[in-house]
Amino acid sequence: MVDITIRGAGIFGLSIAWVCTRRGASVRVVDPNGPAAGASGGIVGALAPHVPENWNEKKAFQLASLLMAESFWTEVAQTGGVSPGYARTGRLQPIADERALVLAQSREDTAAELWQDHARWEVIAAPEAGTWSPPSATGFLIRDTLSARVHPRQACAALVAALCAMGVEIVKETVDEGQVLHATGVAGLAEINRAKGKTFGNGVKGQAALLAFDAGPQAPQLFADTLHFIPHADGTLAIGSTSERDYKDGHSTDALLDEVLNRAIAAMPVLRDAPVIERWAGLRPRSQSRAPVLGEHPLYPGQFIANGGFKIGFGMAPRIAEVMADLMLEGRDEMPEGFRA
Ligand SMILES: Cc1cc2nc3c(=O)[nH]c(=O)nc-3n(C[C@H](O)[C@H](O)[C@H](O)COP(=O)(O)OP(=O)(O)OC[C@H]3O[C@@H](n4cnc5c(N)ncnc54)[C@H](O)[C@@H]3O)c2cc1C
Repeated sequence: MVDITIRGAGIFGLSIAWVCTRRGASVRVVDPNGPAAGASGGIVGALAPHVPENWNEKKAFQLASLLMAESFWTEVAQTGGVSPGYARTGRLQPIADERALVLAQSREDTAAELWQDHARWEVIAAPEAGTWSPPSATGFLIRDTLSARVHPRQACAALVAALCAMGVEIVKETVDEGQVLHATGVAGLAEINRAKGKTFGNGVKGQAALLAFDAGPQAPQLFADTLHFIPHADGTLAIGSTSERDYKDGHSTDALLDEVLNRAIAAMPVLRDAPVIERWAGLRPRSQSRAPVLGEHPLYPGQFIANGGFKIGFGMAPRIAEVMADLMLEGRDEMPEGFRA
């Protein structure tokens, strides 16, 4: 008999399993498709903050999660011996025009106030040509020191290894024992839609590509022309993503990804000859409110849900795992109001 059964072995289910196990609970994870079969099996992995202004509970929660990430992933790596590809390497964004420059400069002050000494948001002169940084029309860039990256697929493998080292079983099917948590991503949202007869949430398709391009182990991620460029520790570079509400097949790539790659090369000409080694597509679980959906399950009284990671599921996972463990193990509810299921 285990204390907790977790349905879904994506980043939410695995992270919550990890924190509950670390706190002494016995946990079993069940996923008929195996770990990282859904959105979490991807390649992008930007752990990047919202802009430091118009502060709200979602941004505060995300900041806490980003600040926890280093110790979270270090412990996972040490326990299981598998690297999640985490590093807090920061982020560079080109500044397109004078208006954007003034705005970026004003955010230096709000970042200092909101992020305090934890991280900086600053406007810097673009470095010399030949350095890993995006060309900038104004000659200036935003640099933040809060952004980090993981390799999503490797991060899930690292959690699986750490859980296995702690004796947690990850199985294809099981009966529910103890408390039950549903972290079933898009399938879980669809189940609620069907039962309620209205839209609670759905999948937003994203396509991304992996290039053989080694920007260096400490190279910052870039955000240019609304695209993320994520240099991974293994000498690959992820570029993403599309955001598609309408699609026929959630898991195939097409001309929209070619368009992303063309825009990426226009923004970063140095990538022109880099071979594309993988094209990947997945469905982001998006709730109607766009916020995570946590707490008591809307269909199963007494059971729990963690869903709605949408575009920042990896960034939010460490803190979500903490608040779900607080709730399930101690009955302590520290959930932001807007995240309640
Ligand atoms: C192209 C793309 C780029 C992205 N980039 C980023 C990024 O840069 N940074 C970031 O933070 N996030 C990013 N995301 C979002 C992130 O991937 C998701 O928010 C996150 O993976 C959601 O995790 P999850 O565990 O909720 O869902 P999933 O990973 O989808 O996991 C759900 C799991 O539940 C299982 N399941 C389904 N039904 C059942 C059942 N009945 N019983 C048991 N198990 C079941 C499925 O098999 C699946 O494994 C991106 C997503 C995409 C698609």
